[in-house]
Amino acid sequence: MVTQLSLVVPVYNEEEMLPIFFTRMEEILHGQFESYEYVFVNDGSKDGTLQVLKELAQKYPYVKAVSFSRNFGKEAAVTAGLAHTDAQAVVIMDVDLQDPPELIHTFWEKFQQGYENVYGQRADRSTDSFFKRLTAQTFYKIYNKMADYPIPYNTGDFRLMSRRAVQAVLSLPERERFMKGLFSWVGFKSIAVPYKREARAAGTTKWNYWKLWNFALGGFTSATSVPLKLWTYFGLLVSAFAFLFAIWTAYKKLVWGNPVSGYASLMVTILFFSGVQLITLGVIGEYLSRIFIEVKQRPTYLIDEKINL
Ligand code: UDP
Ligand code: MG
Repeated sequence: MVTQLSLVVPVYNEEEMLPIFFTRMEEILHGQFESYEYVFVNDGSKDGTLQVLKELAQKYPYVKAVSFSRNFGKEAAVTAGLAHTDAQAVVIMDVDLQDPPELIHTFWEKFQQGYENVYGQRADRSTDSFFKRLTAQTFYKIYNKMADYPIPYNTGDFRLMSRRAVQAVLSLPERERFMKGLFSWVGFKSIAVPYKREARAAGTTKWNYWKLWNFALGGFTSATSVPLKLWTYFGLLVSAFAFLFAIWTAYKKLVWGNPVSGYASLMVTILFFSGVQLITLGVIGEYLSRIFIEVKQRPTYLIDEKINL
């Protein structure tokens, strides 16, 4: 018999959080579903996470786990979790209980109504700093302007997906796995469920601004090639301007002669366009590095151990 519900949970250095999470989830899930399971993905934790997982798995056969050979990042961990379940519906959630587990029942109702991609949407980000909110907002705005398939605002990985939707996500072969982008790309009947995101129950966040910046860059470059093409138009604009300027200069020389001046304007022009050229090269470099990663065809993750699977 196919399991009804599967919880895919990436964990990285979460020995403290795991037991709290498990107890809370059992309160919510036990007796509510015909069958359910947990698929934890240990993303190369350096603390006792794996040990805690093994103890849980020994007691409860429906606690399953995949353990990576090293840290591959949350996107890889979620991918691995999705690949190791064949449940009818799969819920992806963090272990830190920032996403209220009660919402799973609402997700399930929507699933019964025929929705195949039910995502939690943060209605209230008051637990985040002003700067974090501002950068997140800007990211969504620019991303959605450029990408072919917009991602809903303030949406993370916390969601329920049908078997079909999960299969579709897994069928996308890229190694640059910006999951939010992939989830919205596959489509299917989707709906948002607004909720309030809590502060972490224990442990600390694994993100910092540098990581977030790179995450955002990965998101852009995997979803859109607009930054590559943008420069063509900028170049055209500058050339057109240069052409008009040349005519103007020639005209000036013919009418007023040629007084030597313009050191300042020369410097400004050179510096500005050197900057533009460097940015352009940087953008090309970003894409090139991602193409390089894709052509190497390395696996997204390596598994060290499977537990109850
Ligand atoms: N996580 C992971 N690999 C990583 C970083 C994080 O599997 O390299 C897991 C982490 O254990 C947690 C989830 O991803 O279950 C979200 O992490 P975190 O709470 O640090 O992110 P935030 O909520 O601050 O965005
Ligand atoms: Mg968190």
